Amino acid sequence: MAQLVYSSKINKIRSFALILIFVGFGFMYGGILTKQIEWLMWILYAVGLLFIAFSCLVYLWIGTLSTRAVPIICPSCEKPTKMLGRVDACMHCKQPLTLDKELEGKEFDEKYNKRSYIKASAKNLNDKN
Ligand SMILES: [Zn+2]
Repeated sequence: MAQLVYSSKINKIRSFALILIFVGFGFMYGGILTKQIEWLMWILYAVGLLFIAFSCLVYLWIGTLSTRAVPIICPSCEKPTKMLGRVDACMHCKQPLTLDKELEGKEFDEKYNKRSYIKASAKNLNDKN
């Protein structure tokens, strides 16, 4: 099994938006190929445009996310990076990062960002008290 490489969330969303653009262009290219069948061409163009419009929305969303992200200096490569949520990875060296002292030293896991996990750990704390 391939080892999972954790990339920074912002980078992940950015590549997702890029893929959407390619898919959009793919559909539009399909539209060019099927221009003999007019209705199919317009449908493919419309779908392609939708994908590109959606990708623009994702780019806008990244913009707002970036302003909320916490800028930090990566302890491992000493470059400035941004992190989202409780755990994230460095944009440059993929070093797992956390803002939560409780999670320091623990193995990096995306589940720490999930609402269900945060709830469950809060419940465990309450049960102990
Ligand atoms: Zn780094």
